[in-house]
Amino acid sequence: MATVIHRRNKCIGCNYCVEIAPEFWRMSRKDGKAVLLGADDKRGNWVLKISDAEIDINRRAADACPVKVIDVRE
Ligand code: SF4
Repeated sequence: MATVIHRRNKCIGCNYCVEIAPEFWRMSRKDGKAVLLGADDKRGNWVLKISDAEIDINRRAADACPVKVIDVRE
């Protein structure tokens, strides 16, 4: 198991995470920022538990994020 953390308030809405991992990420039509699907809001940090098999794709999204607001923690 691992955890994906999205510091959403600092997201610039570039769409890279959605392009890389659309099964986990969507763009919000309301504010133009990314949404980590199924995540819980922990005081502004959106947190999602993922399986080991889902780590790589989320790491790729994190690496692509130009403002580094995605963390994958094992
Ligand atoms: S890659 Fe980063 S900045 Fe771009 S939409 Fe995703 S979370 Fe936001």
